[in-house]
Amino acid sequence: MGYNGRKVWEVVTMATETPNRPWLITHARLATLGDDPGLIEDGALLVQGAHIAAVGTSTELTTRYPAPERWDAAGQLVLPASTCAHTHFYGAFARGMAIPGEPAANLPQILERLWWRLDKALTLEDVRYSALVCLVDAIHHGTTTLIDHHASPTSIEGSLDVIAGAVQEAGLRASLCYEVTDRDGPERARAGIAENVRFAQSLTSNLRPPISNLQPPISNLQSPISASFGLHASLTLSDETLADCVASAGEVGLGFHIHVAEDQADQEDSLSKSGQRVVHRLHDAGILGPRTVAAHCVHVDEPEIALLAETGTWVTHQPRSNMNNGVGVAPVEAMLRAGVNVALGNDGFSNQMFAEMKAAYLVHKLWQRDPRAMPGDVVMRLAYAHNARLARVFWPDLRLGELCEGAAADLVFLDYAPTTPLTAGNLPWHLLFGLEASAITATVCAGRVLMRDRRLLTLDEEGITARSRELAAAVWDRVSRGTVV
Ligand SMILES: [Zn+2]
Repeated sequence: MGYNGRKVWEVVTMATETPNRPWLITHARLATLGDDPGLIEDGALLVQGAHIAAVGTSTELTTRYPAPERWDAAGQLVLPASTCAHTHFYGAFARGMAIPGEPAANLPQILERLWWRLDKALTLEDVRYSALVCLVDAIHHGTTTLIDHHASPTSIEGSLDVIAGAVQEAGLRASLCYEVTDRDGPERARAGIAENVRFAQSLTSNLRPPISNLQPPISNLQSPISASFGLHASLTLSDETLADCVASAGEVGLGFHIHVAEDQADQEDSLSKSGQRVVHRLHDAGILGPRTVAAHCVHVDEPEIALLAETGTWVTHQPRSNMNNGVGVAPVEAMLRAGVNVALGNDGFSNQMFAEMKAAYLVHKLWQRDPRAMPGDVVMRLAYAHNARLARVFWPDLRLGELCEGAAADLVFLDYAPTTPLTAGNLPWHLLFGLEASAITATVCAGRVLMRDRRLLTLDEEGITARSRELAAAVWDRVSRGTVV
């Protein structure tokens, strides 16, 4: 690829130490995406602070801006970085963990035998390293904005601060919440509510105006950390707890992040508890709305889809997780036709959103036995335009998912030499059929270079890997001995 190492290092130093000095990326193949997607051959981007200040050809921008330091992309494809609409940093230590007993036969058993044992074994240090493992993975795969849903029932208080600290060390951006549930009794349900409230209040009190008029106002006011109010799922929440959550979330001005109808069991539970299906039960409780994220919605019927659309509630789609748990396939196209806001998450799978896009592209075709189902451009729209719109729920001034003046300088560099013509129009199919994770060489978040030449610049990957392996072994031991309650 022929990088100019010296210049890249200068850019890295400059972007981390003097964040407002402009710098220029040249000789990139730029896929701009956005409303009027273009592919600029030999393109250039001017980055200033956290934002893209100009987009054009290398000739245009080097003439207009002769002074800034340059990063020669040497013909790499540069795309907006990815956003993940629903994930679980706390699940990283599950990789390769043996679950004693008979294999789980359905989602409730998977929850009881795996996730509700693992999450109770997590100390605050485990929470930190589990998050760091996911953040390393996110940087490696060009995913810079993540919407997380956290659980650590024996280490609730302060857990969101620990995760926020890790996200800030990484240089990424995340919206965090703690999942409230009745599954561990009223005391832990109350502690979960308190953690959401405490964390939201701490973010508000940390907001400071810019210290100088010379600083760009948006980037300085724009904290990389945001919050929502976490709820596990209808099937582990009583009416009383839901009411407490609605009252508490209202006090701190948060929307909700909750699993909805991931499995038929959620519907059966809701019908027996309330005589209503899940979406209607949650609506009556005051949970739905344009600032609420409903993960999965696999088992929703037409009236529920209509209600999700009417309330402007966000639905996230996680096809890899749905396949893994054998729960079914969400009616994404029906939801889109009805006007539901649908975004793409990963539910704790790898933060390589290209892999999630591939799964979404394939599974609907198989499920419907129709190769016309879920076309590539629709998958692309979910992953970029919709995820970017969802991110504005948490960061109202942020423009992600496109390369244009004023958008966030969140970028991913891909060493991808197309063997067939590549255009703005056929880009989705190049991503779905041509691109592999190994092509990703560099990641930039809010104008800061987090990885170059596949090497992380903000996190000590080797140290994190070694410590997480030790901690995960101890967590597995506590889980297998049943010493956590
Ligand atoms: Zn989930």
